Amino acid sequence: RLADWQAGLRAQFPILTRNPDVAYLDSAATTQKPAAVLDAVTDFLTTGNANVGRGSYPWATATTSRIERARDRVRIALGDTTTGSSVEFVGGTSHGLRAVAQDWLADQLLDGDEIIVPFGDHEANLRPWLDMRDDLARGGIRVRIVAMPVDPASGDYDHRALPSVVTDRTRFVAVTHVHHVFGVDMNVHRVREAVGPDVPICLDAAQSVGHRPVSVADLDVDFVVFSGHKMLALPGIGAVWARNRRGPRFALRGWEGTPNTAGIVSMAAAFDWLDAAGTAEIGAWTSALTLRLTDGLAELPGVQVLGCQDSLTAESTVQRREALVTFRHRAVRSDDLGFVLADEGIMVRADGHCQAGRDSDDHAVRVSVHVYNTPGEIDRVLEVVRRCEGMSS
Ligand code: PMP
Repeated sequence: RLADWQAGLRAQFPILTRNPDVAYLDSAATTQKPAAVLDAVTDFLTTGNANVGRGSYPWATATTSRIERARDRVRIALGDTTTGSSVEFVGGTSHGLRAVAQDWLADQLLDGDEIIVPFGDHEANLRPWLDMRDDLARGGIRVRIVAMPVDPASGDYDHRALPSVVTDRTRFVAVTHVHHVFGVDMNVHRVREAVGPDVPICLDAAQSVGHRPVSVADLDVDFVVFSGHKMLALPGIGAVWARNRRGPRFALRGWEGTPNTAGIVSMAAAFDWLDAAGTAEIGAWTSALTLRLTDGLAELPGVQVLGCQDSLTAESTVQRREALVTFRHRAVRSDDLGFVLADEGIMVRADGHCQAGRDSDDHAVRVSVHVYNTPGEIDRVLEVVRRCEGMSS
């Protein structure tokens, strides 16, 4: 049954049906698009394309209401039942996080304030806060950036050490929902517990929205930022959801110009598609695939999975992985593994993974999945790693 459900969904991705031998395992970088998303974009551009809020003729008013409906679509997708929240369309997660820093946080901070930032997460969730601090410093406001403590054994934030970095000057916390290298759910509930109810938390949800249910009714965070292209929609579009419960509303500052209307249409269509497919079922499918991979890797003594202390020995505690696993082999270079995999039509990421503070030699192989991937594709990866291990020993 489950296999039929999945096969029916996979068949809706034209790029995959056209390339049946390709194992696309780089969805954490960007996902493939189902026909329904491509059709929605074509439909918009061929039946009623116009600019937003710029005219009173039918195509213009239809486009404007389409964009406003898409804003509501984002709210519904995030389980938002609050009033006063806002959704702003941005270029993607990197752009959205920078917008939260520049258009909202910069105005909130006073000399001597502190913000807590995860240095080991994606660069996109570090640069905006550092740049904002430097901008404020030029205006005479000194803001201290405090590193979010990380537990090296799990890859998760060190929730026990967190209270020791929270002070009465802590004004903001930036965190990630699912880590783009470790694939670990970063337990943001426990971040809220540690910082208390009044400190705004901004969530980089690039690797969670569209991969499994993400509900702001459940997550006590103030901002959720994500990218359309990682959730089956087009590149160049994303959103910032803001709860707006403390202080002024979040809004993009200044004249934004023409939004990415086709991208917005694609994102609304992708949420519809994900809903119909079942976002919870998709999350279960992809974590079953990553479990199959970590189980298989555990049998290879030379393999180290990132985000847990050592190799995958029986007693090591590898947490549940979301849709991605990153590993390296002690005896085989990750770029070599990447080339061998590519030779076999297996598309993975093998490089430094945009992780802040890592040098470029620190490579690893990341396998990331979405609902279109199959257990057979995971087995193909394991087979190649096994073969490379055999050649190296
Ligand atoms: N945060 C995380 C956790 C990511 O995985 C990524 C993309 N790799 C980003 C931010 C940046 O997203 P984008 O490139 O769409 O701006």
